[in-house]
Amino acid sequence: MAWMQEAGLSVRRDAIGTLIGRYEGAQPDAPALLIGSHIDSVRNGGAFDGMLGVVLAIECVSALRSNNQRLPCAIEVAAFGDEEGSRFPQSMLGSRTLSGKSVGSVAGIQDQDGVTLQYALKGVGLDIACLERAHRSPHEFLGYLELHIEQGPILDREGLSVAAVEAIVGIRRFHVILKGEAGHAGTVPMEMRRDALAAASEIVLGIEAYANQSEGRLRATVGKSEAFPGAINIIPGRVAFTVELRSADRSGLDLSVLDVTSLIETICARRNISATIFDRQDFEPALCDTRLTARLEDCIETAGHPRKRLVSGAGHDAMMMCDWIPTTMLFIRSPGGISHHPAETVELKDVAAAFDVMMTFVTSLDAWRGRPEGEMQ
Ligand SMILES: [Zn+2]
Repeated sequence: MAWMQEAGLSVRRDAIGTLIGRYEGAQPDAPALLIGSHIDSVRNGGAFDGMLGVVLAIECVSALRSNNQRLPCAIEVAAFGDEEGSRFPQSMLGSRTLSGKSVGSVAGIQDQDGVTLQYALKGVGLDIACLERAHRSPHEFLGYLELHIEQGPILDREGLSVAAVEAIVGIRRFHVILKGEAGHAGTVPMEMRRDALAAASEIVLGIEAYANQSEGRLRATVGKSEAFPGAINIIPGRVAFTVELRSADRSGLDLSVLDVTSLIETICARRNISATIFDRQDFEPALCDTRLTARLEDCIETAGHPRKRLVSGAGHDAMMMCDWIPTTMLFIRSPGGISHHPAETVELKDVAAAFDVMMTFVTSLDAWRGRPEGEMQ
């Protein structure tokens, strides 16, 4: 809060605890460009995931104030909490609430010590019954910009400092149980076995090969598997595993679920194994505003860097904004692609590049005002 105040922002905390600083434009009460990210972290995480986006947003305002520069619009800087969902089994509560979405009945959800969200909020002077007071109207904002570390290796591999983000992937998740027949590892001949783990292994490799054929459009992961009864001398009779599919293409994602399901059924039929698929969870892709993202790419070029677009494979607060106000994101290189780890870092020259791009973006807001109303939508 002190950093925001020093930069010239008037600061308040909303009903879910998001810190919001406002730097007025040339006209008081003008719509604002919202710039932000999150300040919570994962356990044993790094120092830059989220926080860097908030610090650079504050630096932008600080630079504007140093130049005595007022823009045609206001700037609001948001420091969201609970993006990661590290403490409570919920995530993005700050951005979810600000963008007017219901958070459902979250009062009773508990952390691992049994402390409820209601009690935790009360401890910092917030009332869970009043979360709706944090809702904002989309008409208050021109758009949302989020700077975030890439958390992946692509910019590092290509030797680039920054990229515009055109979409955040959607996710399809489900669980699978395969049932074969357990048996003695020494007495059951190979051709008579119904080995659930051998079937699962073929499925895992099949899913990997399927994603490899997508030319980068699909990422597929079997992240967890367990074989039963789990002994060195027993043929596994049952295997439980998870499947996660990620893509920015919604129809491609739905097609991949059908294709992977059919792959599982085909392999199981041939091996005389039964398969049950359950607990499917769908998270839709979030598409950034095409015009705003093109504008951000222009700013990357103006700041002296090659144009580059990426799809984010990880979730961000921007997901909550995409269907609410025109939204775009700027990614900064993660050396080694390392994130959610204490070794997570950034290079100073990349931070300088990101700051230049953000300032170019923010100070070219004049051009927005010349556009017909509604064009930014
Ligand atoms: Zn993050």
